Amino acid sequence: MELVRCSRCGAFYTNNGYVCPKCQAKDNSELSTFKNFVEKNGIQLQSISQVSVSTGISEKNLNRFLNYDGLEGYKKLFK
Ligand SMILES: [Zn+2]
Repeated sequence: MELVRCSRCGAFYTNNGYVCPKCQAKDNSELSTFKNFVEKNGIQLQSISQVSVSTGISEKNLNRFLNYDGLEGYKKLFK
């Protein structure tokens, strides 16, 4: 198994996934907040920093979410 560094807390972990098991719940909840926000505001989105302010999710995490499977299309929404 390959050791991966969690992009949220920096801990090393071995399972598959974008973040370590401890951060999984928080990551999932922020991800669904982000998805809901995009669904509601889609065309009016302007920048990641604006979404960050509105959702309380850090820009770093928002940029990570854009690289998640299934969210490729979201990238087009941001300049
Ligand atoms: Zn973590």
